Amino acid sequence: MFTPINPATGEAGTPIPALTDDALEARLARAAETFVRWRTSRLDERTALLAAIADRFERDKRRLAEIAVREMGKTLKTATAEVEKCAAAFRHYAQAGPSMLESRRFETPMGPATARWLPLGPVLAIMPWNFPYWQVVRFAAPTIMAGNVGLLKHASLTQGVGAAIEETIRAAGAPDGLFQNLAIPSSRVDALIPDDRIAAVTLTGSEGAGIKVAEAAGRQLKKVVLELGGSDPFIVMPSADLDAAAKAAVAARIQNTGQSCICAKRMIVHTDVYDAFMERFEAGMRAVRAGDPMADETDMGPLSSEEQRQTVLDQLAQIREAGGRLLFGGEALPGPGAFMSAGILVDVPPASAAAQEELFGPIAMVFRARDLDAAIALANNVPFGLGSSVWTNDPDERERFERDIAAGMTAVNRMLSSTPEAPFGGIKKSGHGRELGPYGLHEFMNLKTVFG
Ligand code: NDP
Repeated sequence: MFTPINPATGEAGTPIPALTDDALEARLARAAETFVRWRTSRLDERTALLAAIADRFERDKRRLAEIAVREMGKTLKTATAEVEKCAAAFRHYAQAGPSMLESRRFETPMGPATARWLPLGPVLAIMPWNFPYWQVVRFAAPTIMAGNVGLLKHASLTQGVGAAIEETIRAAGAPDGLFQNLAIPSSRVDALIPDDRIAAVTLTGSEGAGIKVAEAAGRQLKKVVLELGGSDPFIVMPSADLDAAAKAAVAARIQNTGQSCICAKRMIVHTDVYDAFMERFEAGMRAVRAGDPMADETDMGPLSSEEQRQTVLDQLAQIREAGGRLLFGGEALPGPGAFMSAGILVDVPPASAAAQEELFGPIAMVFRARDLDAAIALANNVPFGLGSSVWTNDPDERERFERDIAAGMTAVNRMLSSTPEAPFGGIKKSGHGRELGPYGLHEFMNLKTVFG
């Protein structure tokens, strides 16, 4: 049984029963059956369905957004924007998907060869609570376009969202079994991965879950895509527009109450502009309003749960023990709910164990860099390599950042965000493989070469 707790109030919602073993088996069987038909479906059938799903998400956005707000505490305005972005992703694959599946011809000494994209089978997606619609949809839209079928194991916190996604896709006319939500806890995933009816696995979440899932999939030689944590650098150089940089730094750190894999978590500021940047950044962080996620003027809702808030508070204590200094904020707010204030940490020893972890809350670490090389060295001095944001108007510096920051993504003079058209993913302990764009579609496909 899953009991949702509204993290803004601490109140329990209606419990959601977990699937029995028989019901889980029935869902797996249905996925396998549906794949037999869907793998040969016409592309225009797939694109029409994707467009119909987009319309449903758009139409039901308020209702869908409210479920996420109740389950994990994000603000209603960001939850609504998230559902709209999902509609855009379904539309993107409806429009651009067919061209991504075009075959390519090669000339070989033995004559022509053709590489064509074929679907792989049912894909199991293990997804987190932080962007409970978007993380799922960036898997679901290309899955449907590819001719695969989807099985979702959503986070325990966001089971209502998981059920709502299945219902919305079905209501748009999806065949029975094309996309199914599996209401099971993570303890039942290990036994599921070896099932022959599951062709591949994708996971977005923590490093620990990534290791477990990759091990289980590796034992079966099943393909995995892993989108794990990040500790993204946000680098500010002297040529940057400091007002714009400071404003983006605040938004990039406190988005989703600091609970995004691509939040800017470490601000690395060139010493020449350190004070000027800090004055602006500090003012911005102090002005962040934490409060009722349903209210329009709220910048930040609560953390997703009391446990998540405690994790962040424990990490802050460790960072301070290692020498980090909290300038302000980073405190649990009194009253019901898992609220905490935004804050800034300085003097954090970069190599300390606590500074090497992902800090999933609204507190920024700020570091001073004496030059470009020092900034890049600091940026790369974490086990993660997901995103990065760099602020400079110098073309040589830009080239160095693009080439030398060890990350899957670099945003120049803007806050990093994901978008359906462009590939998204990381290196190092941030995982491997890519989502979105044509690459995300191709991850779970068989590129068959036909000779002759
Ligand atoms: P988890 O990684 O534990 O959860 C993500 C998903 O993985 C959930 O569906 C979870 O299910 C499932 N899962 C967890 N353990 C296993 C396992 N052994 N086998 C299979 N599936 C598993 O994240 P948490 O919610 O516990 O958050 C912990 C930390 O992870 C955060 O503080 C943050 O640092 C990081 N995180 C990063 C995210 C990102 O976007 N990069 C997203 C979420 C978390 P269930 O909920 O049932 O346990």
